[in-house]
Amino acid sequence: MPSGIVHERTLLVALPPVAAGAACLAHLSNSGVGFVISALSGYAIGIVITPDMDHHAYTLGRQRLARLGLIGDLLNAWWSIYARLFRHRGVSHAPIVGTLTRWVWMWPAVVLVAIALSERALPALAVAFAFNCLADLIHLALDLLGTRRLSCASSQRRR
Ligand SMILES: [Zn+2]
Repeated sequence: MPSGIVHERTLLVALPPVAAGAACLAHLSNSGVGFVISALSGYAIGIVITPDMDHHAYTLGRQRLARLGLIGDLLNAWWSIYARLFRHRGVSHAPIVGTLTRWVWMWPAVVLVAIALSERALPALAVAFAFNCLADLIHLALDLLGTRRLSCASSQRRR
């Protein structure tokens, strides 16, 4: 399994093309800067709130949350319950469904954003969710590549 730093760096390296893609989609759909902000917000959520929130260890995402002080500690306590409910690399690591479990788990924050955005909430949240799914798919691809490399290395050692 790639480390949290590998996941985070890969997502940051992919950020410029993701941002360019979001800007192109905003231009093509005449959606404006709100689309790009929603897209990048969803992608950023994927950098901090990763599929590895199902891990019992103190992951890099949890370390990032801890930097927020008391609020971060409360969020980490909240996510540790998530880690107890979801087996590591179970549903949380399923494409789209895993992202949805984390959005359901973050429902208080999602409701606050929805109230703040009022009538624009649904399209903005849909775009953010789609780009959060994109970040999670990159995470899952790295996990898959890491697993294959490990299994290749162990089968070579057996020979
Ligand atoms: Zn993972």
